[in-house]
Amino acid sequence: MPGKVHVVDHPLVQHKLTLMRNKETSTSTFRNLLREVSMLLAYEVCRELPTTMIKIETPIAPMQAPVLDGKKIVLISVLRAGNGILDGMLQILPSARVGHVGLYRDPKTLTAVEYYYKVPEGMGDRDAIVVDPMLATGNSAVAAIERIKESGPRSMKFVCLLTCPEGIRVFHSAHPDVPVYTAAIDDSLNEKSYIVPGLGDAGDRLFGTK
Ligand code: URA
Repeated sequence: MPGKVHVVDHPLVQHKLTLMRNKETSTSTFRNLLREVSMLLAYEVCRELPTTMIKIETPIAPMQAPVLDGKKIVLISVLRAGNGILDGMLQILPSARVGHVGLYRDPKTLTAVEYYYKVPEGMGDRDAIVVDPMLATGNSAVAAIERIKESGPRSMKFVCLLTCPEGIRVFHSAHPDVPVYTAAIDDSLNEKSYIVPGLGDAGDRLFGTK
């Protein structure tokens, strides 16, 4: 059974995504837009988080009011472009813990090789939100999720900005239990594994490296 894909088609997200796709958009604007879109994606991803009631007093009266149930979220950035989404999500979820996974593609074997991995302790009690702007071939996302699963998080979600049918197919063949949240599903991948029409190299656009 294929996994779930949530397309966040809110007009604000779509507007900002269009600005990000535009090749004339500067690095600093791209960075700000990614932070803003990530806050909106976080809002959607957190829709079903459990809450618990606490007793407070407003200036008018005492009341029972809901708060998020514990501080159990861990945001895990797939380096390096994942850090752009991480920045935005941390503004909405300031108490979240943070992990990082670094992978590169071996040019000979074309498989994902890990060069960095660090996640918080106590993953068994945590809900993991793994972030990477582009779910393209799906290979690095599959490898990242596989690695994070070893730490046994309570639940996992994967958040990207853009994906394509190939990426979703590869991802959910390996991890049908991990829902994907994205702002759009584009047409295809080209021969260089870029999403078409996409937005180019997310890392280069975020960090101005090209
Ligand atoms: N990674 C990117 O940064 N862009 C793509 O289009 C595909 C993978």
